[in-house]
Order: sequence, then structure tokens, then C-alpha cells
Amino acid sequence: MKSVTVIGLGPMGQAMAGAYLDGGYEVTVWNRTPARADGLVARGARRAETVETALTANELVVLSLIDYDAMDAVLARAPGSALAGRTLVNLTSDTPDRARQAVAWLAGRGAVQISGGVQVPPPGIGTPEAMTYYSGQKDVIERHRTALEVLTGIEYLGEDPGLAALYYQIGIDMFWTALAGYLHGQAVAEANGISARDFLPHAVRTMDLRYFLEFYAPRITAGDHAGDVDRISMGVASLEHVLRTAQASGVDGSLPAAVLEIFRQGVTAGHGQDSLTSLVGVLRRR
Ligand code: NDP
Repeated sequence: MKSVTVIGLGPMGQAMAGAYLDGGYEVTVWNRTPARADGLVARGARRAETVETALTANELVVLSLIDYDAMDAVLARAPGSALAGRTLVNLTSDTPDRARQAVAWLAGRGAVQISGGVQVPPPGIGTPEAMTYYSGQKDVIERHRTALEVLTGIEYLGEDPGLAALYYQIGIDMFWTALAGYLHGQAVAEANGISARDFLPHAVRTMDLRYFLEFYAPRITAGDHAGDVDRISMGVASLEHVLRTAQASGVDGSLPAAVLEIFRQGVTAGHGQDSLTSLVGVLRRR
């Protein structure tokens, strides 16, 4: 029988354990707060009373915890011998260095870690378009491909265990700042009597950044920062308008002020007449 252990039952771990149950797997679960397993147990999952039982129940162990400190806290509850021979699919997000350190630490206890960064929210688990970044030992990933694909598709990045975390963090860097911009804009809209729902079609159009992403990427790679279509000086003037509009609306201006500060640094570095892409170099020097 196909079987797997899932440790960590936040919304993501619950979705994963649920996908395995739906896929006909025998699923053993453990969570620090045991009650979070109740719904899964009602659907047929086995509740492990201890971390040691959870680890030794299956070779394949999926971890979905808030961060690697939580993983350390969980694994400290079991004797090191419980890890021997296990494959830990660690879908916990943290920095690339933490992922690399964990791989070395686990190797000393006879366990292999496959590092992953899930690219969808919990409702996306088990859907065909969902993807997860993976890095680590390719042969181990291939051996468990069928089980991993119950959750999402596999985007394999390479042997370096930090790569999945790195790609994930870069994506999330873009995601959080873009989403914060969306929320800030909606705050300005709401402060002016425009409902979020009414502004939605305009937001969707404005935040469809695909054209810009594709236009700028080759220029960034080539180091081509010609100010033929945009200039940092234009960005500074525009951001000043954004900031003043927010402030006049009674909305906190710290987000556009932070972006304006970055653009001003571009001007100070002598790039006022260059493209916005020159900010990549300005940011790297900071
Ligand atoms: P939650 O924060 O809801 O779940 C965190 C889990 O970590 C819970 O099982 C919690 O246990 C456990 N935990 C936290 N601290 C400790 C500790 N000190 N010791 C033991 N267990 C601990 O996160 P999600 O389920 O939403 O996400 C899990 C991972 O997936 C995260 O790394 C997240 O970044 C990543 N992810 C999440 C996405 C999402 O949309 N939710 C999308 C993509 C990735 P307890 O129940 O006892 O508190």
C-alpha cells in the first residue's frame, strides 16, 4: 500500500494530507496541536501520538511547518535514530542557508532531505496547474515522483538544496511587495469612496505586468539601461504624485515613500536619465 507521513497540519499540511487520502494513500499525521488532526483522522488518517512514531511509520515524510526553527523543535522530540533511512520532503519555507544546513544535519543522522517551495495556496494542492520548486538529490526525487505529484507538479532546479528556497524567496519577494501595492492602492480607493470591487477591473489591468516583465528581463541581463522608454527622473516625479495623493487621502504613505527613496537613490547614483532597470544595480550596491 502507498503510504506517507505528514508532519505539520496548518492549512497547507492539512491540504497535503487530504490530497494523499484522496489518492488512496495510508497517511500518518502528527501536529504539535493534536486537535488539528481530528478532521483528517475522521477521513481515515492515522494519528501518531509521538514524533518518533510519525517518523518511523514511513520512509517518506512530508514536513509542512512555519519555518525551520519549528522543524528543529519537532525533530528534537524524537531520538536521532528515528531519522535513519527517512526521506524528508521539506516543504517548509525558510532561507536557502537554512535548507542547506538542514540537509547536512539530517545526513549526519542517516536521513535525506528534498527541499521544496510550494507555489500555490492550500486550495491549489492536488490541482493540475500547481507547481512546487524542488532541489536536492535528483535520484531521490525521481524515486518519489509519483508521491510528490499527488501534491503538485515538480519544477526541479538542481542538486543544491538551497535552490528551491532561493527561487521560492525570490518569487515571494515579488509577490509580497506587489500585493502590498495592491492593498495600498485599494486603501486610497476606499478612502476616496471607491469600493475595492469597483476598482477591481482597473487593478487587474494595471497589475497585469507581463509586458513589463518580459520587456525588462533581457535588458537587465544585457546591462542595457538606456532611458529610451522610461527614466528614473520620471519615476521620482510620478512617485511624488502617488505619495501626495495617498497623504491627501489620509492613507499611510510609508510604502510609496520607500519606493520613492529607492528611485531617489538611483538619481543620486547618477542614473536619473537611465531606465528603471538601472535600479537593479543600485539595489545590489546597497
Ligand atoms: P501555518 O503557519 O498555519 O502552519 C504552521 C505549522 O507549523 C503548524 O502545524 C504549526 O503547529 C507548526 N508549528 C509552528 N511553530 C511550531 C513549533 N515551534 N513547533 C512545532 N510546530 C510548530 O502555515 P501553513 O500551513 O499555511 O504553511 C506551512 C508552510 O507552507 C509554511 O512554511 C508556508 O510558508 C508554506 N506555504 C504556505 C502557503 C499558504 O498559502 N498557506 C503557500 C505556499 C507555501 P500548530 O498547529 O501546533 O500551531
